[in-house]
Amino acid sequence: LGLPRLATGDVLRAAVRKRTPRGLEARAFMDRGDLVPDDVILGIVREELERPAAARGVLLDGVVRTVPQAEGLERVLGALGRRLDHVLLFDVDAEELVARLSTRTVCESCQTPYMGRDAGSECDKCGGKLVRRADDEPAAIRRRLEVYEEQTAPVVEWYRRSATSVQRVDAKGTIDSVTRRALGSLRNDPAQE
Ligand code: AMP
Repeated sequence: LGLPRLATGDVLRAAVRKRTPRGLEARAFMDRGDLVPDDVILGIVREELERPAAARGVLLDGVVRTVPQAEGLERVLGALGRRLDHVLLFDVDAEELVARLSTRTVCESCQTPYMGRDAGSECDKCGGKLVRRADDEPAAIRRRLEVYEEQTAPVVEWYRRSATSVQRVDAKGTIDSVTRRALGSLRNDPAQE
């Protein structure tokens, strides 16, 4: 799509590494698998959307995760004269998610995720070191799934009620096939007709 990706988790992990005040505030929530407070997330979203690189649009990843964030995003977009074009829901069952998270490593520099590669090996993209995320440990994974059910699943209903179409993408399968399905959903989104 040629659009920058804004992943709030990546922004937060960079803040944790740099030990900024925001990173210090977020770290305990993240390590446990809990959500970081909504005002912190909306602050990040606003800052990132105001960057020149985001002028043509952005792909939000990992946000919004609560109903107050969905409401806040509407306000931020309204204030910036922008709008939400599509909402994609990547649908995978819990068993598959646990299998993916518990075998994942990520580059500590550029955040690229890998499956089946040991911690300590080198990132193909930037040569950085692959690490396990603290929140990919079993107790935090369980907590993240609970948090999803309690706080994030209601966001889908919220968008439906606000007449924003939510495109469900079957996210089982290879990266290529899920990518094809996601692009197909964007092309077929009734909201764009
Ligand atoms: P992710 O990389 O998207 O899995 O995010 C990692 C962690 O960062 C989450 O488990 C939360 O602690 C925090 N986080 C990222 N995005 C959000 C969000 N939109 N709302 C609240 N917390 C978030």
